[in-house]
Amino acid sequence: MDFQKDEGIFRKYKHIFNTYEDFFNRDNYPKFSAKSYLPIDEEVCVCLMGKQYKDCCKTKHKEAIKFRKENPGVIEEELDQFYLQKDSKLISSKVEKASVNKKNIAYCSAHEVFGDCDHGNHMRHSHTLTENNVLRNLSFGDKVIGFNDHKVPNEDALNKDISMFYSEIPIENASVTVSFCKKHDEELFADIEKDGNTDYSGTSIQNIEYSLKAITFDIYYKIMNIFYMAELIRNNKYAICSPDGSQSEYFRNYHHSVETLFRLYPLMLKMLNELKRLKTQEAESKLETIIFELPIERINLSLSEVIEYEDILCFVNVINSKKPYIIVSYYKESKRIISIDKLKKMYDSCENEKLQLWYLWNFIKELLINSINIYFNKTAFYDLSDEAKVYLYIVHREGIADIPPEWQNFHDIELMRFLYGCNIML
Ligand SMILES: [Zn+2]
Ligand SMILES: [Zn+2]
Repeated sequence: MDFQKDEGIFRKYKHIFNTYEDFFNRDNYPKFSAKSYLPIDEEVCVCLMGKQYKDCCKTKHKEAIKFRKENPGVIEEELDQFYLQKDSKLISSKVEKASVNKKNIAYCSAHEVFGDCDHGNHMRHSHTLTENNVLRNLSFGDKVIGFNDHKVPNEDALNKDISMFYSEIPIENASVTVSFCKKHDEELFADIEKDGNTDYSGTSIQNIEYSLKAITFDIYYKIMNIFYMAELIRNNKYAICSPDGSQSEYFRNYHHSVETLFRLYPLMLKMLNELKRLKTQEAESKLETIIFELPIERINLSLSEVIEYEDILCFVNVINSKKPYIIVSYYKESKRIISIDKLKKMYDSCENEKLQLWYLWNFIKELLINSINIYFNKTAFYDLSDEAKVYLYIVHREGIADIPPEWQNFHDIELMRFLYGCNIML
């Protein structure tokens, strides 16, 4: 039974990863050489079982490299099969199910700063996109459309049946994590979720609450991804090397996930501390926020995501309140984000609404490329041609570097009509 197996995925980690403190303890995760990205011998092993790398999987990894060097091509078919399995069999979807549905990765993000969590009710499934203001206004109560990120895209499959690469999701299941207790999930987001508070007016407190949605999603997702990397290597040691035995992207990606997790963590604490002060007294927020109010009725997409611009981690939300907004927030350490300031200046000084939407387009494309926590209106999505759906998926998964400009221009017009809900040809 799959149910049993899913629970099994996490049973072996339970003695190491159980509480909030465990998930946010840097020592529970591996460290990598900054040069080669290879795991450091005396640190925790990449399989996350708590032993040092040199005493755990290192020997197995050396064997894998040796085998692939000496037997080129032999493992390829096995690996292809492994990645092309049905969605429910893929390790990535098993880990997601075990983490979210079965609450195996569960903690309250407010534990350290607010304390006094609602343990009686245990951790709840919380929406990292607000249910009313964002999801209902996007969907009118219907399902929403999300990318199926578990699939490995290849040209044949994309052109044969593009519907496999998207999922219809009931809004109660969209953008769900297990990252707040019931009490804090209600209290902390009162200014953007409680009835009567749902109209966005750009107050400091609302901007922090939206940013908190984005960062708590991203942190949860990073942790889940780290467990995915651990499961992947437990199931197939060959993932660490390329067909010729050279190092694959595996360790570099793993390193990047852990590093980003611990760049985000202090920012989450900062946000929670500011929110705590703002809720109890007149206080100032250090969060910089840039708002684009769109000159249309609504935008057919919603997202809440952390995206890096000019080496600064930004918290981006796209919402449909009374008007549609793109809200970009960040903590200005030493500098502002120049490209976003420029865009904002150009946007505000322009009086032609269609031109404004053109100006925003490259920024929105960037969001399509970098977002995981992103959803579309279903009716509008089904009006898209299959070619545009293929294009959108490729942009999302691989970026635009390899797509010819003519092809982009051609499909961008259709995508703009889809997202903006109007024809913006000048
Ligand atoms: Zn190990
Ligand atoms: Zn709590």
